[in-house]
Amino acid sequence: AVAAAMSVFVTRRIPAEGLRVLSQASGCRVQQWDSEEPVPRAELLAGGAGARGPARRPGLKVISTLSVGFDHLALDEIKKRGIRVGYTPDVLTDATAELSVALLLPACRRLPEAAEQVRSGGWTTWKPLWMCGYGLSDSTVGIVGLGRIGQAVARRLKPFGVRKFLYTGSGPKPESAAEFGAEFVPLTRLAEESDFVVVTCALTPATQGMCNKDFFGRMKKTSVFVNTSRGAVVNQEDLYEALAQGQIAAAGLDVTTPEPLPTDHPLLSLKNCVILPHIGSATYATRSTMAVLAAQNLLAGLRGEPMPHELQL
Ligand code: NDP
Repeated sequence: AVAAAMSVFVTRRIPAEGLRVLSQASGCRVQQWDSEEPVPRAELLAGGAGARGPARRPGLKVISTLSVGFDHLALDEIKKRGIRVGYTPDVLTDATAELSVALLLPACRRLPEAAEQVRSGGWTTWKPLWMCGYGLSDSTVGIVGLGRIGQAVARRLKPFGVRKFLYTGSGPKPESAAEFGAEFVPLTRLAEESDFVVVTCALTPATQGMCNKDFFGRMKKTSVFVNTSRGAVVNQEDLYEALAQGQIAAAGLDVTTPEPLPTDHPLLSLKNCVILPHIGSATYATRSTMAVLAAQNLLAGLRGEPMPHELQL
């Protein structure tokens, strides 16, 4: 009787492996907004009109998000209603760390700008002073948020010859930092001393707008800023000014405010800013694993069992 009560609403087209887990679960009725586009609010409210419906329905028991970030969830309200939340940590760490490195390198070595010169005929001859950028060898790298992804980024950057790692967060994490000999410093010192700043923290009230005019003002003119966390950690107007005025050398962003970034946004007019459309975890294998985990979280939650990964509210 309990199993028969499971009614699931999948709010997006997801990898088939995840859907299969749901459809093979006994007593699970699956409805889906089968589109690449986000579900319209009215459809979301209507779509789960079964026993265990969507957010505003008192029957909603479990939310399973296909992400490790949970800044899009109204956690106070969710907690108040006794709804359980599943999320997908760990399984996307490697893909997102890899993308962070893949974004840092074109930003510091000016790859999009250089490739454009080949297309436009700007490449006339080999020139000693042309298209120079900044390399990781002997550099100082500052990680804002040495969590799962932050550590995986440091692990990947270390073999490039990084001399020193700095990190910041809510407090020192000696066990995580030991692998890189990373030093815990205040955000201000991280900005001042890093040649590369990589932001991999969660978006919280404390981190919202944290990379602002003061932060960029403290960075070196030769430093490169990379953000693969959430757009709102950055004050984008301040970042634009810093890039346009040459206060910092370059930036790489996988996340922006808003998303998508309007095509006429000032940041897109800058040669020293590489912007990607939030593809941190976008490998086929990772998205498939995320979908399976999200489905497993959901089913465990509905059955009243421990979830593989439940957010502690
Ligand atoms: P973790 O929880 O492992 O790490 C989050 C880190 O944020 C922690 O190390 C935490 O540090 C740090 N943090 C919290 N508050 C602050 C603060 N005030 N200043 C500096 N750091 C702070 O999460 P993950 O590494 O798994 O993921 C991190 C984030 O990456 C996600 O929340 C998500 O937003 C983003 N993400 C982006 C993706 C993309 O596609 N671009 C894909 C996946 C994730 P402490 O422990 O000291 O509090």
